[in-house]
Amino acid sequence: MLELHGIPVSSGVAIGPALVLDPDGYSIPRCTIKRSDVADEIERLQQAVASVARSLEESRARTSAKMGNSTGEIFAAQLQMLRDPRMMAELQRRISQLQHSAAYSVSQVLHNYAETMRRLKSSLLAERADDVLDIERQLLFALGAVTTNPLKDLSAPVIVLSNSLTPSETANLDRRFVLGFCTETGGPGGHTAIVAKGLELPAVVGIGPFLGRVGEKTQVIVDGDRGRLVLDPDKKTLQEYRIGQEQQRIFARSLEQLRDCPAETVDGAHVLLNANIEFPYEVASCLERGADGIGLYRTEFLYLSSDSEPSEEDHYRAYSQVVQAIGDRPVVIRTLDLGADKMGSRPLVDRENNPFLGLRSIRLSLKNQDLFRPQLRAILRAAVHGDVRMMFPLITTLAELRQARMLVNVIAEDLLEEAIPHRRDIPIGMMVEVPAAVLMLDRFVQEIDFLSIGTNDLVQYTLAVDRSNEYVADLYQSSDPAVLRLIKHSVEVAATANVPIAVCGEMSSRPARALLLLGLGVRSLSVPPNALPKVKKAIRSVSISECQEMAARAMTLESAGEVDLFLAERLRKLVPELTIP
Ligand code: PEP
Ligand code: MG
Repeated sequence: MLELHGIPVSSGVAIGPALVLDPDGYSIPRCTIKRSDVADEIERLQQAVASVARSLEESRARTSAKMGNSTGEIFAAQLQMLRDPRMMAELQRRISQLQHSAAYSVSQVLHNYAETMRRLKSSLLAERADDVLDIERQLLFALGAVTTNPLKDLSAPVIVLSNSLTPSETANLDRRFVLGFCTETGGPGGHTAIVAKGLELPAVVGIGPFLGRVGEKTQVIVDGDRGRLVLDPDKKTLQEYRIGQEQQRIFARSLEQLRDCPAETVDGAHVLLNANIEFPYEVASCLERGADGIGLYRTEFLYLSSDSEPSEEDHYRAYSQVVQAIGDRPVVIRTLDLGADKMGSRPLVDRENNPFLGLRSIRLSLKNQDLFRPQLRAILRAAVHGDVRMMFPLITTLAELRQARMLVNVIAEDLLEEAIPHRRDIPIGMMVEVPAAVLMLDRFVQEIDFLSIGTNDLVQYTLAVDRSNEYVADLYQSSDPAVLRLIKHSVEVAATANVPIAVCGEMSSRPARALLLLGLGVRSLSVPPNALPKVKKAIRSVSISECQEMAARAMTLESAGEVDLFLAERLRKLVPELTIP
């Protein structure tokens, strides 16, 4: 048994056999061949090498013609590596002496080469290591070893263990078979973590290198509450976890009775408790758990979960489905928040050095109106079916807000001219996710119908901490006093201007932090569906004056660590049931 630790990002426990993906997302099992097949296998390898060489030659010619010889030389260097006689000799040796399949030999030999280059710690050689991995990928494709995506062909339960998973790969995991996942990289606020919560998949990220220690089908436990991965658990550990799972089920069932009760404090303050969704089908679980509405619909997942660009009709169908399923409750449709870590298989921007500070979110939508317009048309059209509100992400300047609003007006005019049913009088709001927006909030409130604080990004941009980076995960804290001050200021400005303000970042799904937000004056929270029962339980267990005392004391503290210690102690007193993970 081996126990490893990482960052817990999605609660719950999963137990099952491992499916190990190599860094490129495919899995090449150790496979041996018959002695009589050795010659054929070497022949297959030679054909694969010839085919990859042909394609590299073509790429070199094409690229040199388009971008000059120096760029084309990248492929010349790859060709040279591919034709390295030592590498060919080693591959042939493995096939003939060890009787390894060509694909397994390629994956072993090229991976070892890449690793050796990386260990030499020269940036030039590290780049060459990427070239080696690229050649490996091409050879494996040519050998037909990776035509199938192991995640697409599942037929039995697995726990996915991988170096990394992008948000779109996570969104496309087959929920019928994937029980949970662990990754070597990744941080607490990344969108992969958020999607895991949406899918209710126990997940641990940022474990560091461990894949080399796991065999195919090894039994594993993912503990998404404590951030633990257990490989080959012993009987006692398995038994403890099975008992824990049962206790969690009983506790979850006990919270089900709160479904139809309002999210109200003991002294009668009403809190709007909405849900965050990524996909239309999640509305059912929001309703089952008594959500007041949808406070954040992350529409970019429509884009991330399909192989082709969604049309206006695709957008319209998805939004109408959500609006009709939720009935007369409100739905806040957030416009596309693509870019940075939310990039599908067809990147919309060139490689950026600092993608989180680059062309993402509303900036990308405004620059790419072919993408934005169909979405805006679809939102205004879907609005005829219910209480739809539109929200822009990552607004940083007044000019962006004005430009986005102007575009909505133009779209409404077009729809009117085309006599297409729509509504143009819907509330328009913005997310508060950037310190600049907080500092300028007194101006924004004059031009906006509602606000929603996105603490996930607000933390990242306030503390200069990449939300998806495991190396700085300890600094990524929504309880940091600097963040609390920005929230407090935002709530006060919104109250003065009489503009509704909500918090829809992950902060609001952690019961103690949710109570702190109530103490700061927030009366509207939006949380992932599976957090609705526990947040409601917390709200219904306290009075507003207790929350205010909590907030007043927290605002005097100097670090996130102090705030969290204090909040944990208060939660233990006020809502002891919730302190059991
Ligand atoms: C946020 O930043 O807090 C937020 C809700 O948006 P996202 O997590 O999708 O960036
Ligand atoms: Mg955000």
